Amino acid sequence: MHAHACFPGCCIYRIFYLFKSRTVRVVKTIKKNLKKYLRHKAGPEQISAVSRLIPRSVLLKTQRDNLIRQVRYCAEKSAYYREQFAEHGIDPLKVRGIEDLAAIETPNKAVVERPYDFVCCPPQIAFETTGTKGRNKKIFFTNGEVNRATSHIALSFTLYGLTPADRFVNSYNFSFWVPGVLHQKACEKFEAFCLPASKVAPAEIYDRLEFYKINVLMGYPSLLVRLTEMADANKRIPMKAVLCSSEPLPERLREYMQEVWGCKVYMGYGGTEYCGGAGGECVHQNGYHLNEMDQIVEIKDPDENGVGEILLTTLNRECMPLIRYNIGDLGRMTTERCKCGLPTARIMEIAGRRDEKATIGSMDFLPVKAFDELLGHVPQVTGDFQLKAYWEGRYQIMELFYESDAADQDQVQKAIVASMKEHSPDIYKNYMLDMYKFRMTCVPPRSLRGDNVKLNRWVDIRR
Ligand SMILES: [Zn+2]
Repeated sequence: MHAHACFPGCCIYRIFYLFKSRTVRVVKTIKKNLKKYLRHKAGPEQISAVSRLIPRSVLLKTQRDNLIRQVRYCAEKSAYYREQFAEHGIDPLKVRGIEDLAAIETPNKAVVERPYDFVCCPPQIAFETTGTKGRNKKIFFTNGEVNRATSHIALSFTLYGLTPADRFVNSYNFSFWVPGVLHQKACEKFEAFCLPASKVAPAEIYDRLEFYKINVLMGYPSLLVRLTEMADANKRIPMKAVLCSSEPLPERLREYMQEVWGCKVYMGYGGTEYCGGAGGECVHQNGYHLNEMDQIVEIKDPDENGVGEILLTTLNRECMPLIRYNIGDLGRMTTERCKCGLPTARIMEIAGRRDEKATIGSMDFLPVKAFDELLGHVPQVTGDFQLKAYWEGRYQIMELFYESDAADQDQVQKAIVASMKEHSPDIYKNYMLDMYKFRMTCVPPRSLRGDNVKLNRWVDIRR
């Protein structure tokens, strides 16, 4: 296989896996052309031109072949899925498509409680979903899997018209979480300069932009919005692209960022279980193109707007394959061909989280559980509370309504912050880094929960 200079060790054919399809003649032509394009300089136009020639049926056929292989592998190696196949009377050798696996749905809980039953070979690296102690999932990978995932990110750089001459800053978190490491490795693969900033105060990054001649920003929206304000207030430093993921970014904030940096802001959608990116926007910024060679994404029981829970089936995992795994996101999907020509399905929106899980200030957490715990250590409050997340101008606000009749509310609020610092260091850290504004509002005891009314403790009105 001929590997493009930008992707040492990773042939672009691996990404456009469909070119492996042995039967379809048109694929050979595409392959030949692609090679030609890549020998020169592949950019969004070239990839787009080639993509237009790829029928979706070819992609789906390869996806099906991969699924058949993955299911057989699970039957052989995965204790959890062996048990599931037996329980639901599924003969893994007879599985021909995802429809044959309809009886299986892997709950979040199974991965939290029995992670090692999913592991099929010696793991080489693990990433966790961040969150409240004990509830975060631990997902294992081989280095090969991580390597493959980084190729996809590197490919997306090409799709955005970036080149190895561009200079990146990586402000994703490196602690246990997947995006920091993956983006760093992707830049390595892309052979571009990349400053590993990790998640730090935005000023630390801003002060280095000119020195390192950074022209591509990567990180969480909440951090990048702060950085944008800094550039807006001090000096606007032109960028070539801003790449972000992991948190919702309202359209008006995207427009603001695009105006200040003078470039496009691209969003990605991913997560630990996806091994980073599930998909990303193309230059048309209209939905997340899914990587359908490595995963099948389904929308379970869509409502009248097409929104439903997202189920993930991995297709090329060797360490911890997942079948119809309920990732906890709600989304809407389309298979309509995008203007860019890529034949993949797209997730058009992530409509929120099931199970009260939230991403705020660049962290994933269960706000209700976290505040339940930290308020439990504050004697002056009743324990009933309501948390509201919303945008105010360019800030995400997390407002806590708590019940207390203590005379000195300053004292109570200090105790709440102290408890946050001690019992929810993640939340505290993000608060200190100015990722969001935390507000506290005292209400009289028993006012939040009227008689027989179920208290809605988490209200997310950020979109
Ligand atoms: Zn597109």
